[in-house]
Amino acid sequence: MRVLIAGFQHETNTFAPTRADWAAFTRGESGPPFLRGEAMRARLTGVNIPIGGFMDAARTRGWQLVPSAWAGAIPSAHVTEDAFERISAEILSDVRAGGFDAIYLDLHGAAVAEHVDDTEGELLARIRGIVGRDIPIVASLDLHANMTQRMLDQADGLVAYREYPHTDMAATGELAAELLARRVRYGQKEPTSLRKIPFLIPINAQCTLLEPARGVYDRLLALEEQTGAMLSFTPGFPAADFVDCGPAVWGHGISAAQGVDELAIRIESLRTQWRSEILEPQSAVQRALERAHHATRPVIIADTQDNPGAGGDSNTTGMLHALRIQQAGRRFPGRVALGLLFDPGAAAAAHAVGQGGSFDAVLGLSVPTFTGGSSDAPVAARVTVRHLSDGRVTLKGPMMQGLTVSLGPCARVELEGIEVLLTSGKKQLLDRELYRFLGIEPETMKILVNKSSVHFRADFAPFAEEILVAKAAGPMAADPADLPWTKLPPGMARRP
Ligand SMILES: [Zn+2]
Repeated sequence: MRVLIAGFQHETNTFAPTRADWAAFTRGESGPPFLRGEAMRARLTGVNIPIGGFMDAARTRGWQLVPSAWAGAIPSAHVTEDAFERISAEILSDVRAGGFDAIYLDLHGAAVAEHVDDTEGELLARIRGIVGRDIPIVASLDLHANMTQRMLDQADGLVAYREYPHTDMAATGELAAELLARRVRYGQKEPTSLRKIPFLIPINAQCTLLEPARGVYDRLLALEEQTGAMLSFTPGFPAADFVDCGPAVWGHGISAAQGVDELAIRIESLRTQWRSEILEPQSAVQRALERAHHATRPVIIADTQDNPGAGGDSNTTGMLHALRIQQAGRRFPGRVALGLLFDPGAAAAAHAVGQGGSFDAVLGLSVPTFTGGSSDAPVAARVTVRHLSDGRVTLKGPMMQGLTVSLGPCARVELEGIEVLLTSGKKQLLDRELYRFLGIEPETMKILVNKSSVHFRADFAPFAEEILVAKAAGPMAADPADLPWTKLPPGMARRP
């Protein structure tokens, strides 16, 4: 069997400040850059992303691959019309050329373009329009997918991650290969079932290392055993203003409806548990300082509302202000760090003066927030350059092991005993290497402030004294009810 493989990955926060244009898909700052044809094999094999897992599974099954195109950009506001149409045109031209028996797509499921709300449904429909019903199409999806009926109608099979942090991305590509094999055995599209959950779930409450998500996914696996169906639960990405935003449960197989119904009822019955404690910045720092006094391991604060993995630009300063006000750096000099602050100007200035030099910096930006206001003012201070890097980092944590990212000129600067990691590219702080490449050994620190919501837990929870979640002003709403929604249907509650 010859399988055409392609990918389109974007998580769209329609309330965020920056759009994903074509250049955003070519930079390779957060994941691989745009790839065409055979280059996909070289760059994506062995990486913990879905298409990497699918390629491995295809090899094992003796399938031949027909690589088309793979495009991914860091989460942000809408994908521009130009970018979506370019990516779509690359894939569709290969689909039209034929020479394959099936199609696998590495999709996110929560991409919104300027001109199309349900971009994955649109891409699937365009492909289906060319190949007809006889060529099977399967796709893997992110756990943050906002699933639509159109996507399920157009595809033969869809399966989503079961872990957040997403340590199972490659494993989900393997599940998509299994779905394809099932579809071929069955001879036609398997029966499907879909149920939407009528309330949004904040991303911090979706973590599968914690309840209630852990128990729900354990139940999903048990129900797959019982029913023989392949099931998915996507808690969704609750910052995409379109009619299908929200959690969903679906499945493929003769008994899919039974598994889907039971799982959906369970998720709804746990409604009040899908909430999590989020602190104001000052309270988070105060609690961290108290705890750090006696702790032997670092206290970690998630700066969740500026998470560049959810549409933030990784450049707000609310947590840095809170650290300074509470004199965290004077209490523990050199043992308090904040990463990663996207500030190409300050990083360039640090490179200009060199290691050991000092300069008057203005760190971060005041950016528009979802409330209609602005985030905190930039931090103006004299800083000392402690460490410089060209920004090429190979990640080693459980989520993205083996992936090399390019963050441009980077620097670590110190102000008042606080170490600030500056970058020229955006990357969620989800891997210890993102501290080490600028000379910080995270395990030896007292307080770490990570611009991330949940993903950092995979690599940091094993040595953390405590993990706190703080909501400094930023573009990503920790509580979806704070957002000015316009397209949610009347039956969809904005919080659990
Ligand atoms: Zn995700």
